[in-house]
Amino acid sequence: MTHPAQPTASHFINGQYVEDTNGTPIPVIYAATGETIATVYAATPAIVDQALASAKAAQKAWAKMTGTERGRILRRAADMIRDRNQELSVLETYDTGKPLQETLVADATSGADALEYFGGLAGSLTGEHIPMGDDWVYTIREALGVCVGIGAWNYPTQIACWKAAPALACGNSMVFKPSETTPLCALKVAEILVEAGLPAGLYNVIQGMGEVGGALVTDPRVDKVSLTGSVPTGKKVYAAAAAEMKHVTMELGGKSPMIVFEDADIDNAVGGAINGNFYSSGQVCSNGTRVFVHSSIKEKFLARLAERVQGAVLGDPQDEATNFGPMVSENQMNIVLGYIEKGKAEGARLICGGDRVDLPGYFIAPTVFADVKDDMVIAREEIFGPVMAVLDFEDEDEVIARANDTEFGLSAGVFTKDLSRGHRVISALEAGSCFINSYNDAPVEAPFGGVKASGVGRENSKEALNHYSQVKSVYVRMGDCEAAF
Ligand code: NDP
Repeated sequence: MTHPAQPTASHFINGQYVEDTNGTPIPVIYAATGETIATVYAATPAIVDQALASAKAAQKAWAKMTGTERGRILRRAADMIRDRNQELSVLETYDTGKPLQETLVADATSGADALEYFGGLAGSLTGEHIPMGDDWVYTIREALGVCVGIGAWNYPTQIACWKAAPALACGNSMVFKPSETTPLCALKVAEILVEAGLPAGLYNVIQGMGEVGGALVTDPRVDKVSLTGSVPTGKKVYAAAAAEMKHVTMELGGKSPMIVFEDADIDNAVGGAINGNFYSSGQVCSNGTRVFVHSSIKEKFLARLAERVQGAVLGDPQDEATNFGPMVSENQMNIVLGYIEKGKAEGARLICGGDRVDLPGYFIAPTVFADVKDDMVIAREEIFGPVMAVLDFEDEDEVIARANDTEFGLSAGVFTKDLSRGHRVISALEAGSCFINSYNDAPVEAPFGGVKASGVGRENSKEALNHYSQVKSVYVRMGDCEAAF
């Protein structure tokens, strides 16, 4: 690949690009063609050590700056990202295969939103004054220290920024490891932060597989780990962090329910189901992949859905007319095709799609199964691809119980014109990020994260600040300090 935004080395440490070709080579494969467009090298132990040492060395002075000074740098980085949105979006498309039509509006821009939002909040981080008669207690909101971020491959720029922005706003430093599948975009975030004035060492990016992530998580210099990934990886990383009593944020997978009641506006519900299953070719953690439709409107819903799925334009993701891209990798494509075969074998009714598409790259047609039963594998396991399972239901209590019958709890959506039912049902659903008459909106102002196996902690919103800081309380006595003897 020759692209103006292409990173110039594998790692970004202490304010500059660093190369170390002794690490295992990781080919960067463009999902739309299968071509290798770049090669990065996994971090060697020496690179892991350099990154952590620079993060450790830089953090204390950063935390001593005023929040307003820190925030100014983050907001400058946000402006720079917006100015370069076009080239960053093209790079995101090369990294992930997602169509440019999407990346232009959803990736660098949402990273910029996070930097702007947390940059704005950085100056407002304060403690409390708690009167105790003549005495008082005051609290100080302190940085945690060195944070590790580990990313999934579906939103490489967004994940890098969603972790960097609140961490840096609170006065922490970070070492970020992107997924080996999408190593490029986080390097650009690091480069831009430094260009915006971030002192060297505060945001480092190193490459590698799970092994490098594991080395970061267990290092004694690390105070917090924030992972975006699958539930099995989350359980491993959470356990490793707990052994050293480190703070964690776990943003993990889901199998979220979207419930369409009989009074719903069918076109809006179909739109929600499309957003919640086919955006980013279904590679979104919060997707509403179990679509429960009231049996009285099921066939109408399916007919309209099948009609609208015809609007998917598959093809070159760099062409802005394309609105549906390939799977991120051959491996992910094979996983998803395996689930589609399971769905067919289990007797679900295939409404559309169901196959690989005859195009270069790793394309799977948007796939809808109807008459899905709760115990089918396609209704229980996270597929992370464009596979929608439509299930029928008869009444509210029944659908709530079935929607909650899962280990996951990331998201949930309800479509109904009856707003009291909308609120009642949402309040009964076990999920962290919910929607009424919409699906998958994730503005930086709203807390994002899951319950049950889908995660711990929240990203975005003021909530995220609590997960990147800790509170010190100080009792101040004005009188004598009395003692028993
Ligand atoms: P994985 O869980 O496979 O990997 C996530 C990251 O963790 C990768 O960078 C991976 O490295 C790294 N990793 C793997 N093993 C370890 C380990 N033992 N110690 C430390 N780090 C490790 O997820 P995917 O990349 O496949 O992403 C898809 C998953 O992410 C889906 O389940 C999805 O639901 C979830 N996700 C959740 C989101 C949320 O906010 N809730 C958002 C987006 C995705 P490498 O892969 O390079 O080996």
